[in-house]
Amino acid sequence: MKKSLRYLIKLRHLPALLTCSIAFFLFASYSLPAQNTAPLSAVAASLEHHPWVLVIHGGAGGPAKGTMTAKEEQAYLDKLNEALKIGSGVLSHGGSSLDAVETVVRFMEDCPLFNAGKGAVLNENGKAELDAAIMDGQTGMAGAVACVTTIKNPVTAARRVMEKTSHVMLCGSGAEKFARSQQLEMVDPTYFITPERLAAWKKSRPVPSAKPEKNEPSTEKHGTVGAVALDENGNLAAATSTGGMMGKMTGRIGDSPLIGAGTYARNQTCAVSATGHGEFFIRNVVAYDMSAIMEYRGAPLEEAGKIIIQDKLRNQKADGGLIAVDKDGNITMPFNTNAMFRGFARSTGEQEVAIY
Ligand code: ASP
Repeated sequence: MKKSLRYLIKLRHLPALLTCSIAFFLFASYSLPAQNTAPLSAVAASLEHHPWVLVIHGGAGGPAKGTMTAKEEQAYLDKLNEALKIGSGVLSHGGSSLDAVETVVRFMEDCPLFNAGKGAVLNENGKAELDAAIMDGQTGMAGAVACVTTIKNPVTAARRVMEKTSHVMLCGSGAEKFARSQQLEMVDPTYFITPERLAAWKKSRPVPSAKPEKNEPSTEKHGTVGAVALDENGNLAAATSTGGMMGKMTGRIGDSPLIGAGTYARNQTCAVSATGHGEFFIRNVVAYDMSAIMEYRGAPLEEAGKIIIQDKLRNQKADGGLIAVDKDGNITMPFNTNAMFRGFARSTGEQEVAIY
C-alpha cells in the first residue's frame, strides 16, 4: 500500500479511535474502586489555592481620639498600609505565612513610630531591651528572644532560634552571641533610642508601678508590633516584637516573646499576636487561650477574642488587644483601649487600616 494511502486510512479512523478512548476513560473512571480515584481528588485539592489573609497591629493603648494631629494619624496609617503591602507581596507570590509575618514585623521594627526595634520604649535605666517571638502553625515550632539590646531585628533572631537551635527561647547575651554567629545585623544599643522615646522616658519618671491595682487605663501608646497570616497553602503563622513597657525594670520580660501568652499559632485553630499590659497577658495565657476556647468550646474566632479581651481582661482592668486569623480566613481585632493601630489585607484585594 502506498504510504500516502495508509496515512489517509489512519486519518479516517481517527474519530473512531478518539471515541473509543473517551469511552474507555469514562468506563474506567466509573468502574474503578473508590480508593483508586482518591489520588485524583488529592491532586485537585493540592492545586487549589487557599485565599490568603494578613492581619497586623502596631500596638494597643492610648491615645484617645483627638490627641494626635491628623498628620500624626496619617503617618501611622501610611506605615500600616506600607506594612500590609509588603506582606501582601510575599503572600500573593505564594510565600509562606511564616515569611510574611517575619517580613512585616521586620519592617515595623525598622519604623521608629512603633515600640519595637528602632523607636522601642525605654526601661528604668533609659535602655531599650527588646523581646520577639515567631510561631509556625503548621509544625508547632516556635522561636523567641528576650531582653536583647544589640540585635537590629529581634524577630529574625527569633526565627533563627526556631530553625537553627533545639531551643525555643534565648535571652540577653546568649541570644546576642547566637545572633552574631548567624551573621545577623548587630547595632549599638543607642541605635534603638529615638528623641521622642527619650523625651517620653524622661517625662515618665518616676517609674510607673506594674502592680495590677494601680493599673489605670494607659494613655501612652504601647506600640508593640505583630502580624498573623494564613497563606495559600492553608498554613498559619504569628509573630510579635516589642520594647515592652515604658520604665519597666531591667531584665523584665513581657508577654510578646512568650509562646502562648503574646504569640501563638496552630493550623487547626488560629494564629494570634497580642498587645497590652504584658503581665496580665502572661497570667491569662491569652494567645493560647484563644486557641483553646476555639478547640475545646467550639467557639468561633470572634467570640473567643471577645471573651478574652472584653470579658476576662476588662474584668481585671487589664488593657490591651489582639489580632487573630483562623484556618478559614476569618479575622478578629478586639481591643479594650482607646485605640489599636491595626489593619488587614486579603487575596481578594481588600485592604483596611484603622486606629480607633
Ligand atoms: N505587651 C507588651 C509587653 O508587655 C507591651 C505592649 O504590647 O504594648 O511587653
